[in-house]
Amino acid sequence: MKDINWNEYSLETQAIRAGHRRTHEDEHSMPIFATSSYVFDSAEEAALRFTGQKAGNIYSRFTNPTVNAFQERLALMEKGERCLAFSSGMAAIMAVGMGLLKAGDHVVCSRSVFGNTVLMFQNYFGKFGVETDFVDLTDLAAWESAIKPNTRFLFLETPSNPLIEIADIERIAAIAHNHGSLLVVDNVFCTPVLQKPLALGADIVVHSATKYIDGQGRCVGGAVVASEELIEKHIYPYLRTGGSTMSPFNAWVFLSGLETLAVRMKAHCDNAFELAKWLERQPGVAKVHYPGLASHAQHELARRQQTHFGAVVSFELSGGKEQAWKLIDATEMLSITANLGDVKTTITHPATTTHGRLAPEVRAAAGIKDGLVRISVGLENLEDIKNDLSKGLEG
Ligand SMILES: *Cc1c(COP(=O)(O)O)cnc(C)c1O
Repeated sequence: MKDINWNEYSLETQAIRAGHRRTHEDEHSMPIFATSSYVFDSAEEAALRFTGQKAGNIYSRFTNPTVNAFQERLALMEKGERCLAFSSGMAAIMAVGMGLLKAGDHVVCSRSVFGNTVLMFQNYFGKFGVETDFVDLTDLAAWESAIKPNTRFLFLETPSNPLIEIADIERIAAIAHNHGSLLVVDNVFCTPVLQKPLALGADIVVHSATKYIDGQGRCVGGAVVASEELIEKHIYPYLRTGGSTMSPFNAWVFLSGLETLAVRMKAHCDNAFELAKWLERQPGVAKVHYPGLASHAQHELARRQQTHFGAVVSFELSGGKEQAWKLIDATEMLSITANLGDVKTTITHPATTTHGRLAPEVRAAAGIKDGLVRISVGLENLEDIKNDLSKGLEG
């Protein structure tokens, strides 16, 4: 097999071909290496591999060819030097914290991040003496003033969930760097097809591969992408010891997910944009949150920072919770679930599900109204999605 420099190829091509080193069996498709350990030619060979003096597989907690292929491919697509795969998106976020933080450190985190990310910082890193302050995602002054001398990193998700606000990655990265901190970006909603945070100045990207990377709702997995130095010094030693490893089977599913990611994301975004425009014209819809719309507060920023506007749309019904539940219950085809990033369109009521455990005043402060409905737009025919929503919008 030719030794190709995949850096010279575009994302769509890397997604299909990079990372697979054909074996002596000449297979065309990436095999699943279902093996926990590897055999060495000699005692000396074993010693050299264990001490890292010689490259090669050792044990599948931290070296497996199928997982390696996934890591290499995603690193290229994110324009990062190195990627490590994990058993879930939360395991990837956990690894960033375990690798980088120590007691007495401080983190600044966006208030609008995945619920378990908030709990991870507050309850678990907090338990070991790491303090986290939460700020408004789009408020640059708040990010800057929350930073302390011991702030190790800033953490954000853009677009946010469920209000689809956009953070300026370039400017927040500059704020972090001015104060000697790092910026970590959760790139689940955009994937590298829509946005490359590392190219915009972020230091670390985290992923839940469970969402768009798989894209068909089959496996749970995650990843961290960063510089060789950050990975080698801080994240890899934790993975090797902590053991929150991605299984070879899941890596194999995610590899084929990456192969179609670019076409899927574009189709998801096209459907979402059309649906958002249609929703704006429907009776009872007070507001639509979608960065592709001129009415969106960060429309220009989204246009600059992303190649497409994303596939999650949320909207407010003037009839509050009662109308939101009625709309959700009137659908016939859409999946009522909080999951996202699937070929199947999903619909959820954030105020009583993902954000239901927040106190009403905290939820109100976060802008999550009782009439808010969130849709992760799938790849079904757009007219069928509209028809299903129409049932609960009339009257
Ligand atoms: C789902 C999700 C996670 C957590 O990923 P898991 O694979 O479920 O552990 C983190 N961040 C975002 C934005 C997510 O949507």
